[in-house]
Amino acid sequence: MAIQKSIHEKLCELAGNMWWSWQPDVTGIFRAIDPRMWSSLAHNPILLLREYGPDKLEIRAREEVLHSRINAAYREWREYMEARDTWGGTHAGVLGFRPVAYFSAEFGLHESFRIYSGGLGVLAGDHLKSASDLGIPLVGVGLFYYEGYFTQLVDANGWQQEEYILANPQDLPLREAKGPNGRPVQISVPTRSGAIHAKVWRVDVGRVPLYLLDSNIPENNPDDRRLTARLYGGDHRTRIRQELLLGVGGVKALAELGIKPRVVHMNEGHSAFAPLELIRMRMQDDGLRFDDALRETATMGVFTTHTPVAAGHDRFDGGLVEEHLGPLREGLALDYEGLQGLGRVDPHNHGEPFCMTVLAFKTSRRANAVSNLHGVVSRRMWRDLWPWRSEEEIPIGHITNGVHVSTWLAQQMRVLYDRILPAKWYLKTGEPEVWAAFERVKATELWETHQSLKNRLIIYARYRLGLQAKRNGMSDREAEKFQNVLDPQALLVGFARRFAPYKRADLLTRDMELLEKIINDSSRPVQFIFAGKAHPADDFGKQIAQRIYKLSQDPKFQGRVVFLEDYDINLGRHLVQGVDVWLNNPRRPLEASGTSGQKVVLNGGLNLSVLDGWWAEAYDGTNGFAIGDGLIHANQEVQDTRDAESLMNVLRDEVIPLYYDRDHDDLPQEWIDRMKRSVSTLGWRFNADRMVMDYVKESYVPASGSTSCSITVMP
Ligand SMILES: *Cc1c(COP(=O)(O)O)cnc(C)c1O
Repeated sequence: MAIQKSIHEKLCELAGNMWWSWQPDVTGIFRAIDPRMWSSLAHNPILLLREYGPDKLEIRAREEVLHSRINAAYREWREYMEARDTWGGTHAGVLGFRPVAYFSAEFGLHESFRIYSGGLGVLAGDHLKSASDLGIPLVGVGLFYYEGYFTQLVDANGWQQEEYILANPQDLPLREAKGPNGRPVQISVPTRSGAIHAKVWRVDVGRVPLYLLDSNIPENNPDDRRLTARLYGGDHRTRIRQELLLGVGGVKALAELGIKPRVVHMNEGHSAFAPLELIRMRMQDDGLRFDDALRETATMGVFTTHTPVAAGHDRFDGGLVEEHLGPLREGLALDYEGLQGLGRVDPHNHGEPFCMTVLAFKTSRRANAVSNLHGVVSRRMWRDLWPWRSEEEIPIGHITNGVHVSTWLAQQMRVLYDRILPAKWYLKTGEPEVWAAFERVKATELWETHQSLKNRLIIYARYRLGLQAKRNGMSDREAEKFQNVLDPQALLVGFARRFAPYKRADLLTRDMELLEKIINDSSRPVQFIFAGKAHPADDFGKQIAQRIYKLSQDPKFQGRVVFLEDYDINLGRHLVQGVDVWLNNPRRPLEASGTSGQKVVLNGGLNLSVLDGWWAEAYDGTNGFAIGDGLIHANQEVQDTRDAESLMNVLRDEVIPLYYDRDHDDLPQEWIDRMKRSVSTLGWRFNADRMVMDYVKESYVPASGSTSCSITVMP
């Protein structure tokens, strides 16, 4: 008989698989062991369990009566890992033992694992989690950034400072990835200026393994050891070397691991070198000519493009490409121009830089944008790649982004879902009928749940503001004033996103007089929480952040406008779970999709957004609020002015009156109706299970060379 595992062993096993991060029961156990330490260790269970060895844990578990909870969680995890009757088993069976390889430059799985910067990474993390839940054979490929993305500190003057925290692999659920021979995998990628070497880590995300390349090994020179230190740091040369490692190195790593992907999914163009290495391998192994190997490799390629902003597409000059791809180019039997042409819209235009997005389009048969509107924009943007086709025939479809429900749904709201929605609703998140049942929730119950989440956010915001102020030299006594900022009874609007100019964080401030009036209306006040980072090299973005910060310091807005530093997954979770309204006012059509508003939907908040990205296809007049009429003006200044006016009008004439229109029980009945409409009409579409199922049906199964196995043709 097997020896019974101790609760410490069980928790260590749980902490070694990121599955715990989307299980409220398991996070609840870690928190219960030591709430203070849990918070000070940035919710890292490996560090917590290092502090709490077997004996100390045993004592705590007795005090808190945790044994049965730990045993139940462990059992549930084992069952999850062993389950065979999954959606993927039925619908993605054709992929069989050859998985989808999902390449991404960042993965946002949890705040304790800082290898993401923002939306793209969080989307990739959610994709892996849903692929795991659905039982899709898929492996992730990325880079291990040991300094990650920066921590944002805002100084007393409102200027962003960046700090990097060194991550120790031992503190993370990383294991050395081993090949079929049992030896740790190491790869090297040749360049004209020497080879770059990397080791490979494995992280388990439920049933999905994620492989991360790490150049910090003695075989590399000091510069290359720092190659994978930071996300989106450094110059073009660093960038192309990182992308070489991700794409070419990633394919080599899979080969060393004995994994032969059936489909290659490139999440954004950063990994577009991957197909080139696959082509080289086909030519070498099967003796194919370049054209034939390209055609066959492209068949298994899926490419998701993520931005309609021109500067968002990586472009490199020819010399840099030749320095890094030269050796591979020889393996492909291409001449200099032959390779350069793969990255140009017009292969013969020598002045055109090498674009990773173009390369990705040319090396994958299936390409998609991330919302319906983004699809339209992308087809227009890239039409010159297919000059013989009309715009509607440009082969770029769309699969709208979605969010992983268990990751973003608040525990209290989940309790409500469990009572109101059909049993095992979380296994059927793509079905409209399941979510339609939310209409039955009692108004008082929904409102109480929301209020309690809002209170939690406000308490958290006060705590963070206090820390921020003290770090900037404020005395304890002075910092006490933050103990009563934000009023739980007043309308609370959240705005958190990267400070890129097109996101227009300062649109609200165009008419300061009106803003002051609505914020300080004595009977119907409005309050705002802002958060967001600017790219370290983007002084313009930092100025926008500073302007917002100054607003929050203005005595006129004291306690009604706050700026919280260091927007990350943890702060994001608090915000999306606690706000009444989520504001998003990008310059249409530059927001490809956006996902933070979808997280808000799950938790009962309402979106107030420009009809851009996902919101353009989500808003139906009853499930949130729209800014503008969905038109685009050729003159940017005119468009900004119009949108600013519309934003203020909608706030003043729709949002505020609806929120403060209370019945005799002090309930805003019509507001609550809108909350219900939001969850019931949007939940089923804008979640990551639906998104991954769409990828399986529309991209993975066709790219695997099989027609769908689930469709039976009627005689
Ligand atoms: C969800 C999320 C994002 C992406 O949200 P957008 O709506 O695209 O801005 C960015 N950062 C964090 C931390 C998130 O959780």
